[in-house]
Amino acid sequence: MGLIWAVIRQRCPRCRKGPVSQGLMTTREQCPVCGLVYRRDYGYFVGAMYAAYFFSFASTLYWLPMLFLGVNPWLVVALPTIQLIIQVPITFRYARVIWLHLDHRFDPEALPHAAGTEMLG
Ligand SMILES: [Zn+2]
Repeated sequence: MGLIWAVIRQRCPRCRKGPVSQGLMTTREQCPVCGLVYRRDYGYFVGAMYAAYFFSFASTLYWLPMLFLGVNPWLVVALPTIQLIIQVPITFRYARVIWLHLDHRFDPEALPHAAGTEMLG
């Protein structure tokens, strides 16, 4: 499975077979296929916020030209806000998957900070 297809299907960055998510808003602790620990350290997914910011910004950018086309400015604020609220589960999941793949690409062999330590959050 190619990299892009693995990201689209939200699969493990190492084996590209195991699902990253479980349910709507839950990230698995580790890959059910290869055993890769997804959360390497406390606060590991803070980096996923950058992907979420970018994804949210890019997905609502098309509203900006509406300001210059005479559309009510309140609509230009309200409708993208509603869109962002609706797409929260998609943004959340893909931001983490993109972060996992980026991190695994640049640091594939990093081990969890403290083996045996239960990861929270
Ligand atoms: Zn895996």
